[in-house]
Amino acid sequence: MPTIHTKNRVLVTGGAGFLGSHLCARLLQDGHEVICLDNFYSSSRNNVLALLQHPNFELIEQDVTSPLTMKVDEIYNLACPASPIHYQRDPVQTVKTNVLGALNVLDLARRHNAKVLQASTSEVYGDPAMHPQPESYNGNVSPIGVRSCYDEGKRCAETLFFDHHRQYGVKIKVARIFNTYGPHMHPDDGRVVSNFFMQALAGHDITLYGDGQQTRSFCYVSDLIEGLVRLMDSPLWITGPVNLGNPEELRIRELANDILARTQSDSRLIFEPLPQDDPKQRRPDITLAKRLLQWEPRVSLHDGLEQTHRYFAGLTQDA
Ligand code: NAD
Ligand code: UDP
Repeated sequence: MPTIHTKNRVLVTGGAGFLGSHLCARLLQDGHEVICLDNFYSSSRNNVLALLQHPNFELIEQDVTSPLTMKVDEIYNLACPASPIHYQRDPVQTVKTNVLGALNVLDLARRHNAKVLQASTSEVYGDPAMHPQPESYNGNVSPIGVRSCYDEGKRCAETLFFDHHRQYGVKIKVARIFNTYGPHMHPDDGRVVSNFFMQALAGHDITLYGDGQQTRSFCYVSDLIEGLVRLMDSPLWITGPVNLGNPEELRIRELANDILARTQSDSRLIFEPLPQDDPKQRRPDITLAKRLLQWEPRVSLHDGLEQTHRYFAGLTQDA
């Protein structure tokens, strides 16, 4: 059982999304009051349906770009579509969500002397020339490409966090999240793990972008949530940025083969063009998280994919 010191009123923006819904459930389990704010841009109420019964849970349908007025002790700012397909659908809105959303949560934190955590991303490293990526690496990001609305939006949000910290003393925490997967991913999300499971289970072709030799490192959702909570609960001098991710790296083609075998699917692999600015490699250096938060992932890729398989198989059976 987790140790509870204080019952806090916690705002989770983007709380109905994949990570947000797990985070809301964890915070309720830890005894906090949770306000989940979401505009359902890349999610649905289904992810938080089970939480609506909880007396300490409140759901607010609102855009994070409009002013926030609730009284809170802590804020996790997760509002932003994370899948390239979703964040590129309305790129101007993606920039607004990142920049105006960051300004709004920081302003709220400043008014209530609350702690505020930003869900930043490994995308701040762009197509990295340094491998694995430590927090000290400043990245290789295009300011004008199709991914820039997300990458530069997240980079600007980090800037706003650190300037609010230096200028106004706002209590900030910045997590750089690497690819995370697990139950509650939207089946049409467009990210690689959900695409491959849905395609394999339906017997459709598996779409490998490029030659499939690009790498990613996948973290199971429960590990990631533990990292976020530890960062929020850490001493105030720990502002981050801190990488949170699983250093187990693999090629996308290997992931496809694993999912094919796991689902016993006879889907074919087909090759489609690599999207513009798609990073060739990605793996977190988590030395800092280990030292500052005593955190490292516990769930192996094998076990995490098995849980995820069960979730997607359940969805396809229900459909
Ligand atoms: P998701 O798309 O499932 O969740 C994002 C949530 O934010 C959705 O519920 C969406 O409706 C909501 N949202 C989007 N724009 C909004 C707005 N303007 N106002 C209010 N709500 C809005 O994505 P996720 O994987 O849960 O990611 C959550 C956060 O973590 C994002 O900020 C993302 O950038 C970051 N992150 C995630 C990953 C990952 O692998 N999952 C990796 C790096 C960073
Ligand atoms: N990818 C793929 N097929 C798909 C979806 C994604 O080959 O159906 C590749 C994509 O080009 C990228 C990697 O898988 O190299 C991870 O993509 P995702 O969209 O999950 O996240 P990213 O890390 O690129 O933000």
